[in-house]
Amino acid sequence: MADEAELAADQHVRYIVTVEKVTSAATAPFPPYAPSTPPSAFQRPLLSSAQKKDSFESLVMEHIRLNGAYWGLTTLDLLHKLHAVDAAEVVDWIMSCYHPESGGFGGNVGHDPHVLYTLSAVQVLCLFDRLDVLDVDKVADYVAGLQNKDGSFSGDIWGEVDTRFSYIALCTLSLLHRLHKIDVQKAVDFIVSCKNLDGGFGAMPGGESHAGQIFCCVGALAITGSLQHIDRDLLGWWLCERQCKDGGLNGRPEKLADVCYSWWVLSSLVMIDRVHWIDKEKLTKFILNCQDKENGGISDRPDNAVDIYHTYFGIAGLSLMEYPGVKPLDPAYALPLDVVNRIFLKK
Ligand SMILES: [Zn+2]
Repeated sequence: MADEAELAADQHVRYIVTVEKVTSAATAPFPPYAPSTPPSAFQRPLLSSAQKKDSFESLVMEHIRLNGAYWGLTTLDLLHKLHAVDAAEVVDWIMSCYHPESGGFGGNVGHDPHVLYTLSAVQVLCLFDRLDVLDVDKVADYVAGLQNKDGSFSGDIWGEVDTRFSYIALCTLSLLHRLHKIDVQKAVDFIVSCKNLDGGFGAMPGGESHAGQIFCCVGALAITGSLQHIDRDLLGWWLCERQCKDGGLNGRPEKLADVCYSWWVLSSLVMIDRVHWIDKEKLTKFILNCQDKENGGISDRPDNAVDIYHTYFGIAGLSLMEYPGVKPLDPAYALPLDVVNRIFLKK
């Protein structure tokens, strides 16, 4: 048992560095590998199983290159190993995904801009303390320009609305110190209009409560100092009921436990100060049992194929449970606490 319950940190670092090499070296469009190159652990599970996953997860996982870079690099930083990659190389690659005409970032070189990748780009630049490479007002104007009359946000010019985009917009603008470019009150009002009777939040008004959407809404309310709109006990109860018999957390009632909800659920519980309602010991064991202890990486549940997404969310979950050797993570900004402090204490 003692042997099972250990974090294979060195193996995870090796796994991520291999994956990040694939991510940052290639300038080819997605899928990023040449036919002669066997798919790395990074792409394999994404291409085969992502579409079958819970819809929130497949939404988050589409066109993952820039998001993948964020997940991998943040994990490295949480494990005190960000220096294992060449910062200048990463920053160059990030900027090659930038669209100077719009101010947004695409998921990869030559891809259309979207707020999803714009936040990931900003987060990675925050990790390396390199926001100086940005035309901050141009990027902030791109994000602010996606706010709709009702306060909601579209993800790109095509107009799809979702509370995920509200979170992404508020998080990006806050990290750039540009929240004043939008109508924050209307943004908050829209999120509150997506609150359900069970205390949770959906993607749209009337949308079913889901842990991923709850993270987005609670995070957005935390960033804007509006957590008073949440019934902490009611939502805390819904969230802590996500813990399954095997110790893992699911995203909705009747679903299987999955490592990624260690992040979506726990971070929400931390923000509403109800994280002590979870059995941390059982959840820690569940996450550690999802590790590939030989080759590194973490999977969604024990014995499945690892991927960078679940590796990040597993280690992020451990961070929120103060696992030894893992840096503390800010639950609202999804960045290491020292990075967030550097951004907000500098100004
Ligand atoms: Zn998952």
